[in-house]
Amino acid sequence: MKVLKTLVILLLAAALLAGCAASPSSVVHSGTPFKLLVLNCGSSSVKFRLYEMESETLLAKGAADRIGVDGHLRFEPQNGGAVLDEDRLFPTHEEAIAALLDLLTSPGYGVLESLSEIRAVGHRVVHGGESLKDSVRIDGEVLKTIRDCISLAPLHNPAALAGIEACRELLGEVPQVAVFDTAFHVTMPEKAYLYAIPYEYYEDYQVRRYGFHGISHRDAARRAAELLGKSPEELKLISCHLGGGSSVCAVLGGKSIDTTMGFTPASGLPMGTRSGDIDPAMIGYLAENCDLEVSEVTAVLQEESGLLGVSGLSSDYRDLEAAANSGDSRAALALEIYHYAVAKAIGAYAAAMNGVDGIIFTAGIGENSAAARKAICAYLTYLGVRLEPEQKDSYSGATRISARGSKVAVMVIPADEELVIARDTLAIVRELPAN
Ligand code: ADP
Repeated sequence: MKVLKTLVILLLAAALLAGCAASPSSVVHSGTPFKLLVLNCGSSSVKFRLYEMESETLLAKGAADRIGVDGHLRFEPQNGGAVLDEDRLFPTHEEAIAALLDLLTSPGYGVLESLSEIRAVGHRVVHGGESLKDSVRIDGEVLKTIRDCISLAPLHNPAALAGIEACRELLGEVPQVAVFDTAFHVTMPEKAYLYAIPYEYYEDYQVRRYGFHGISHRDAARRAAELLGKSPEELKLISCHLGGGSSVCAVLGGKSIDTTMGFTPASGLPMGTRSGDIDPAMIGYLAENCDLEVSEVTAVLQEESGLLGVSGLSSDYRDLEAAANSGDSRAALALEIYHYAVAKAIGAYAAAMNGVDGIIFTAGIGENSAAARKAICAYLTYLGVRLEPEQKDSYSGATRISARGSKVAVMVIPADEELVIARDTLAIVRELPAN
């Protein structure tokens, strides 16, 4: 009898505990599918994705471009329905977001009965400064910090704020989460993030290396560890995010310890239109000798340099590969400069970590160009890097591309930053008390 009573008490306690444990996630598992919107607001564009999170199914995606210029809208429901692709005037981000939300429930293109089905919104926010170290639910305090960082990301943070504000207007009190490009890099040590300039500029003006592409580097490093069957803590990884914007990141024990982008995303590697690192004396020299304002020199370095500047042809890697293959020597030179810079960054981070277990290639160029990866890895044979002789341009999932005997694992890891934002958002909303 006593045994039976104890058993009943134990069973009741277990049921109670199970109930408590389940309560936070009841937000997610309450019967109706958890639909979540991801917004990526750039200076003149809004990209969106709508997911059903139980199965991580993409329900719709699209973008509004050329906001404030004229406007273009693309909306792609993933249920086989018609795609909308048309010019439409968007003076503001809010109008663009309103149009996208409208389409989500429209009879012709919609994938939702009502906007109330959207249970959370995740926003990509470029700059979270030094204080926002992780993805967070957006409240008054977080909004203030994003606003305080406007001077550090003058094109991007106002756009993200506009997106957050528009969602509050159009979707009411639905929880919103900010996922930052800078957050992954807050673990960098002082020796990596401080510039060798008077310390007061750091203290008074927050001039330091922040690093960007953090959402991509964090996810790439996590998935690389998974692919290698190791825990992130035991790995020295170098993540190469090579796209229109490019950066390399040293990830030691799962944490960013250095990255090539710095105070702004203009520095580090040469990119599509950005020069990357230059001699700081060049700015004064060009201003004086070319009769340019400092702001004009900055514009040249950000918008007319990089692959475009050297080739005089295009900022697009594919265009330059094609041109180089048909004998254009400046296109070939632009590519050579790019590969050399990436290889040097990998060498620097192998030194910073006193070794490297894995090199990751991700983003448009990293994921899609076997030629780029080969050209970069050709500089790295001293590290024991050896690629499989047969290389495809792209792979459908995370794939190891190094040869069996390679001392360093080389991997292609396709980036899906929106899904990372969706997962972060879900994880945070899941912990909110059900009301
Ligand atoms: P962003 O989001 O920074 O604009 P992406 O990650 O989309 O950049 O990368 C864009 C770059 O990737 C462009 O330079 C483009 O030419 C390059 N790219 C895309 N597909 C390929 C491919 N198949 N081969 C070579 N480069 C490619």
